[in-house]
Amino acid sequence: MKVKGATVDERADAAAKAQVKVMPGVKQGSTIVGMYKVEYTRTEEGKFVKWRNRKFVKPECAEINVGDFGLIYGRGIFEGINFYKGGVLFLEKHLDRFFAGAETSRLDMPLSRDEFRNFILEAAKKSGLKEGYLRPILTAGRGKDGTLGINVGCEDPTVFVIACNPLALYTEETYKKGIKITDSPYTKQPKTVMDLNNLKWLCYFPNLMVKAEAKERGYDDGIMVLKEPDGKKYVSEVSAANLFFIKDKVLYTPSLDSNCLEGITRNAFIELARKKGIEVVEKRCTLDEFMSADEAFATGTAAGLIAIKEIRGRLIGTGKEGEITGKLREAYFKEVVPTSLTPFDHAGKKLEDLQAGRDYHDLTILKEE
Ligand code: PMP
Repeated sequence: MKVKGATVDERADAAAKAQVKVMPGVKQGSTIVGMYKVEYTRTEEGKFVKWRNRKFVKPECAEINVGDFGLIYGRGIFEGINFYKGGVLFLEKHLDRFFAGAETSRLDMPLSRDEFRNFILEAAKKSGLKEGYLRPILTAGRGKDGTLGINVGCEDPTVFVIACNPLALYTEETYKKGIKITDSPYTKQPKTVMDLNNLKWLCYFPNLMVKAEAKERGYDDGIMVLKEPDGKKYVSEVSAANLFFIKDKVLYTPSLDSNCLEGITRNAFIELARKKGIEVVEKRCTLDEFMSADEAFATGTAAGLIAIKEIRGRLIGTGKEGEITGKLREAYFKEVVPTSLTPFDHAGKKLEDLQAGRDYHDLTILKEE
C-alpha cells in the first residue's frame, strides 16, 4: 500500500514541520514524546485509510484529539517511571500495574506488553538522557463516531510516553531538610464500584487539591485521611507518595485497605526493610501514631525517599532524617536501584522478532475503505 508522502518517517517529519502552532509543551529539560496513535490519510489511489502511527516528536509537536475522553472526562491511566544510568527502574512492575489498570478501567490497550516495553525503552533511549523520568499514558480515545456524550464507547486510544529530565516532587532544599505535612480537609474516597484509589487514572484532581491546599497553609504536602462510616479516621497517603513511620525500631505503613496506592517504591522499601531484618507492619494507622513516631518518611517514584520532619506542627524525632530512614535510603540506592534496571538497549533486542514479523511495525493498517 502506498500512502501519500512516501515513508512513515517522512510523513511524520512533514506533519511535525507543518505544525504552525507553537505550544509550550512539557518544559522539563530535554523532552521527547513517543506517540502511538491513529491517523487518517488518503492513499494515492484515493482510498481512505485509518492507520496507526508510531513516532517520536518534540513536545510542541505532540497531538491529541480534542474529543479524546482522556482529556474531556479523565478516562485514561498513566505511570510514572524513573530511569538511571541507561536503565529503566522497576519496568516490569510498572507494566504489571499499567496493564492491570487498563483492565480495571476497561480501556483498550492497543500495544502488547512486549511492544509497550520496547516503546518505553525506546523513548528513554531517544531522550538522549542518562537519567530521567518517563510518563506513559493511555487515553480511552475519542467517543465512537466523534460523539462527546458519555453514552458511547471510545475508539482510537492513544498511547504516549513522555521522556524528560528527572522529576523531583520537592525542592532540593526540602530533600535536605525533610517535609512538613498535615492532614488535609480532602479525605480519601471510599471504595466504590471501582478501586480508584489503587488506579493511576488521569483524574488526579483530588490529589492536586490536597497539595495546593496544604501549600497554601505553609506545608509541603497534605495527608489524605480515610474516613470510615463509623467516624474512625486512618492515614492513607500524601498527594503522590506513600507514608511510613518507625516506632521502637518497627517500620509501619498504612495497609492497602487504607485506600492508598500500592506504590512500587513502597513495596520495594517493605521488601528491603524485611531483608535487613527490620520488622515491617502493614496496618491501619492513625494520625496520632504518625505524630508520635520516632522517624517518618514518604516514598514514591517522583518523591524518591523523603524524610518527614514535622506533622501538623509536631516535630518527628529530632526533626532530621532518622537513623533507620537514612540506612534504608542508602541501601535502596546502593543495592535495590542498580539491580532493578532494564537497560535501554533491550529495546533493540527484538530485532529478530521484527524481522520475523512477530513484533510491531511502524505502520499498522486498521481499516481501508
Ligand atoms: N500514592 C500516589 C497517590 C501516587 O500518585 C504515587 C506516585 N505514583 C505514589 C503513592 C507512589 O507510588 P510509586 O512508588 O509507585 O511511584
